[in-house]
Amino acid sequence: MLKAVRVMFAVAAAVVMCAGASAQSVKVDAREVEATRVQMTAMRDAFVKAVHDAGFTCPIAAPKLLIVDVPSFGSYEPSTNELKTSSWTQMTDGERALFHKFMGPNSTDEMARAEFEDGAHHWVFVHEMGHWWQECQKVSNVLKPYALEFGADRIAAAYWKEHDPSVIEHQRAVFEAIVTRWPNPVPEGQNAEAYFNINYEQLGPTPGYIWFQAHMCLKAYDEKPAPSFAQALRETK
Ligand SMILES: [Zn+2]
Repeated sequence: MLKAVRVMFAVAAAVVMCAGASAQSVKVDAREVEATRVQMTAMRDAFVKAVHDAGFTCPIAAPKLLIVDVPSFGSYEPSTNELKTSSWTQMTDGERALFHKFMGPNSTDEMARAEFEDGAHHWVFVHEMGHWWQECQKVSNVLKPYALEFGADRIAAAYWKEHDPSVIEHQRAVFEAIVTRWPNPVPEGQNAEAYFNINYEQLGPTPGYIWFQAHMCLKAYDEKPAPSFAQALRETK
């Protein structure tokens, strides 16, 4: 049930790809892929160190990183303990176009790439590390979809609040724009969490899924009092 899209930008990427430009015209740059591997290994290791510093251990190893074109810009697979993330040149034109779209009609490649770094290599990556921690706690196949996704957002939000709050402030603007401008998929009078759990599979390939991710991220950012990273880890069960 939980094998469908786990991250936030997949549908929007699909929408952009449907609009044209799906061919890959940027040559994959092996040095850039390797630089991404080094950068993301450091980010993974910093997260694992933060878990240890908070007083926790995990019975499984840190996830194996795969630097590949992943249309959802990040994913964690509990059965193999693999975390996939993309380098900029591995992605298709359609996938890169999404980051241009976020930055407006006059965006440069530099601006789009900076947006990708913030969104995919900071926010989504640590959200996926949150899914790794859920597997450490053996709840990946226990929690319902909303609790699983919101839980990963809560861990990522607490992590960035302690390590670099600017990541949250940047993503807040992105998610507020989505929640404000995109249609709310929850029918009048229905509970958002219940609706997400019941309709998880059907929501996977729709913009409604992105709306939910944005909604859950904002809920995590606004939790009062804000949980510490240690508290967010402890409450994953
Ligand atoms: Zn997720």
